[in-house]
Amino acid sequence: MIPTPTTGETSVYIHLPFCKKKCDYCHFFVLPDKEIYKERLHAALLKEIQLISLKKPLKSLYFGGGTPSLYGPERLQELIRALPEAEEVTLEANPDGLSLELLKAYKTAGVNRVSLGVQAFDSPQLIKLGRIHNELESQKCVHLIREAGFENITIDLMYDLPGQTLEMWKKTLETAVSLPITHLSLYNLQIEPATVFFKHRSRLEKEMPTDEESLKMYEMAQAVLTDAGLEQYEISAFAKPGYYSKHNVGYWLGREFYGLGPSAFSYREGRRYQNVANLNKYCEAIEKRVFPVDFEEKLEGEQAERELFLIGLRMLQGVKIPSFREELVPLEKEGLITVSDKVQLTPKGILLYDAIAETLV
Ligand code: SF4
Repeated sequence: MIPTPTTGETSVYIHLPFCKKKCDYCHFFVLPDKEIYKERLHAALLKEIQLISLKKPLKSLYFGGGTPSLYGPERLQELIRALPEAEEVTLEANPDGLSLELLKAYKTAGVNRVSLGVQAFDSPQLIKLGRIHNELESQKCVHLIREAGFENITIDLMYDLPGQTLEMWKKTLETAVSLPITHLSLYNLQIEPATVFFKHRSRLEKEMPTDEESLKMYEMAQAVLTDAGLEQYEISAFAKPGYYSKHNVGYWLGREFYGLGPSAFSYREGRRYQNVANLNKYCEAIEKRVFPVDFEEKLEGEQAERELFLIGLRMLQGVKIPSFREELVPLEKEGLITVSDKVQLTPKGILLYDAIAETLV
């Protein structure tokens, strides 16, 4: 079913930043997997939940990270119970350290969707990325998640990796669709500052696929995934019927959301803000009952309209015609979008979305 605009709905994102090892390309706020940090964060998160004082049922609750599957089912259940009921409760997990028992405990805690960070079904590529799981562990984990009773399973895959060929990518895609997944998100590797990859960027960039190869990889993903019954509903998201991500659809439709925990973003009443990306500073502010906001911007007028339009356009169902309609005419003439009672990307426009965004921003 096609989602509709979401006025009045709310989502919550909780950042659980613990990882056993930082991946070489990772630019997220991540902490070592230590009990002492988890206990400190947990106490603060329960207080932050009190501070925001939500009463209405939530459309979605998303535990992202980091590796939230390292947080522990009991603590996770306490967070879930401290918040209003949510339709969709997603837990991000990594293949290392997952067991059937642990997955069942997360299900009992209230999780109803698992997002597994697979990245590649290709062990040499995983080593290059600095990941600590291998191809077979990822496959086994998808089956374990299913066996634990989760019907809604999504995985992340990455392309544009150094040394990755079309053949390697094809094998990853074919393995993905042989597994009992209901959703898949695609990411292309970006080399971000303050990562191990950034230090080696001049060598790595030479090994990365060319623009032409990258485009072929994306088109190959579209073909393999849609052939397997995963409908493309957003530029980087594919789902079996009925399994669109309720949480991510909210981002694309401009639903308000609260981001809790260090470094988490929120979007409310036209305001976008981010919590401080530092555990001590975050906890100290929360202990004083102060919102730990480090960055904030207010989106107003046409700037807000343009941002919402561009985010909404990512969804293939299309978006409402904006007030700057005349600026769409050249894009329509170039065959990048269609304009009827709504604006939609064409297949060519899906491939060239970044160029469209640059024109309209
Ligand atoms: S598992 Fe994810 S969050 Fe953790 S270090 Fe790797 S990329 Fe970053």
